[in-house]
Amino acid sequence: MSTPKFARIFPTHSSRKRKNQLSDARTTRKEKPAGDENAPEVGRAETVVLRDSGDAYVSNRLGVEPRPVLGDVNRNQPQIEGISASATKLRRFSGAGIDPNAQPPAELNRRSWCFAECSQLNSLLSDVKCPECEAGHVTIRVGDSMGLSQELVLCCDSCQYSRTEYSSPRENNLNHRQNVPFEVNTEIVLYSHEIGKGYSSVDKLCTVFGMPAMNKSSYHRIDKRVNASIVEATDATLNETVEFVREAYRETFPQGRVNAVNDDGEEDGAWEDDDGILWVDVAFDGTWHKRGFSSHYGVGVVVDVLTGYVLDFCVKSTYCHTCAMNKEKLEGMTAAEQLQWKQLHQPDCSINHEGSAKSMERDAALELWGRSVERHNLRYRTMLSDGDSTAFNALAAAQPYGPTRPITKLECTNHLPKRMGTALRKASKDGRLGGRGEGRLTKEKCQRLQNYFRSAILNNLEDQRAMEQAIWATFFHVTSTDEDPHHDRCPAGPASWCFFQRARAEGQPPPPHAGHNGTALSREVSHAVLPIYRRMTNPILLKRVAHGKTQNSNESLHNVMWGHCPKEVFVGKDRVEAATAEAVAKFNRGNFALAQVMDHMSLPITELTHSALANKDKVRVQKAERATDVAAVAARRARCAGRQRQLEQREDQEGEVYGAGLMGDGGE
Ligand SMILES: [Zn+2]
Ligand SMILES: [Zn+2]
Ligand SMILES: [Zn+2]
Repeated sequence: MSTPKFARIFPTHSSRKRKNQLSDARTTRKEKPAGDENAPEVGRAETVVLRDSGDAYVSNRLGVEPRPVLGDVNRNQPQIEGISASATKLRRFSGAGIDPNAQPPAELNRRSWCFAECSQLNSLLSDVKCPECEAGHVTIRVGDSMGLSQELVLCCDSCQYSRTEYSSPRENNLNHRQNVPFEVNTEIVLYSHEIGKGYSSVDKLCTVFGMPAMNKSSYHRIDKRVNASIVEATDATLNETVEFVREAYRETFPQGRVNAVNDDGEEDGAWEDDDGILWVDVAFDGTWHKRGFSSHYGVGVVVDVLTGYVLDFCVKSTYCHTCAMNKEKLEGMTAAEQLQWKQLHQPDCSINHEGSAKSMERDAALELWGRSVERHNLRYRTMLSDGDSTAFNALAAAQPYGPTRPITKLECTNHLPKRMGTALRKASKDGRLGGRGEGRLTKEKCQRLQNYFRSAILNNLEDQRAMEQAIWATFFHVTSTDEDPHHDRCPAGPASWCFFQRARAEGQPPPPHAGHNGTALSREVSHAVLPIYRRMTNPILLKRVAHGKTQNSNESLHNVMWGHCPKEVFVGKDRVEAATAEAVAKFNRGNFALAQVMDHMSLPITELTHSALANKDKVRVQKAERATDVAAVAARRARCAGRQRQLEQREDQEGEVYGAGLMGDGGE
């Protein structure tokens, strides 16, 4: 008996092929998972957060505190408020995963694996008498092997008695059936996926332990099944995800309308279209298997910006191993033969993209937008993407939702500050402006101005004019002098980040700028950077960020994804697809995604597996929350600035050896 016990772990999904067997268990699916009574409701949306590293997962969270409006952040301080969405995101799927008090379901599989060496077993058996002759001793020896499942042969040293059992059960406990795969073999292949390696990892493991190796063709046969199962399990996760997203939009925008602006500057914000199909804001990103554009594989991912869930992905491939292996053979064929070969091979061919690797991103976007209605009953209304507009332009031209339903581009909130930093650093290269000295544009100042700029954007995400004002306030603040102070736009009050306004609020005379205005710029420098500020406060630019979303969620997804699929080794399209699917599932539902894949493949989930996955999710949530904790962010930023200072000092000593691209956060 192998099945219905997991219905509780995955309350809304289980393996399709076992649906019938699960019908009893399904009645329990609607229940809230144990320990999840306090799970917040989606709806009271709160934005927004920021972070430098792509380490944590999303930039907004749903319903953690009763602060009701988007962008309700402290406007007094040019600092970054950080909140994590990880917890909420994971909780939607399985309460067991992150609730520290949650107990693993009692019905978990009692299987217990161990690495055992034969002489250890034989030492246990040393006093056991043969059941047949009751005189001889029995010992175990290893017989033939099927991959990592080995025949254990128990025999007597004085009579003919012998019994044989495999070291691994077959899947579904079908031990009497010859052709059912052994659990251990499937699990070891799944393990190679987990560590992002291929056949060689299994081979090396066997070498180290001196076990008979699994042969390559067995590995690939199982690998094919593992790849397919991961993709299927993730499909199911995505279907569930879409329901959560739908719910989140309905609860966040109960009127069905918000203030969004269309291309003509008119307010236009129906979330639910006339035909009942929901509009969602998404981030789109393309990534390649190998750095640069020489890659055979490209992946496009769509992430919902309200909830931070991945909605869909697709893999583009310009490579097919079979085609490559048969290249010479094909060249020797007649045209008719070639055609016949290609028609036969077509269903198995991995090539689904013609053209450059660069154009994969564009084609992936077209495919994902093209199937959003059919697949999810959603329309992706905006595209949050970084600088390159190729994909967006192609979408705008293709009009996947028809001419009356255009798609809007949103600028990434991280991208713009980086552009600011790059522009400032470029200006500082001018000998009159940069370098050391009173009011000069040092590298440290460039970084601080960039941080101010970013804070001004992030603290005013829902109000484009306030955003513009806040950016100018930082400019006027840093260009102020005792003779010519301009702090009127700086936030007032005793908690203001501006020393001038603080003094005013306390009824004190304004302190001198020297020693208080750490980022003071000389007159000459002010004139030089003014055009940069003009350019960077362009209303069209700001309009694109005035939704306050960042693309970091995508960036961390990439890490997980390619972590399952190392760039060095040869991989097929199937594996790239599986790696992407696994990352997506982990991204949406946490580490329990692995348990879901195992469940899908009818592999037993032991208590240890369960608690290990639960722990990982707990750590992930803590990490994400630390990463967005205001104090922690400030501390990290200070460390960062310290490093920057050190670098600058070293640079002063060594002369100009670092290129601009090595400084700061990379720019464009
Ligand atoms: Zn015997
Ligand atoms: Zn092919
Ligand atoms: Zn000021």
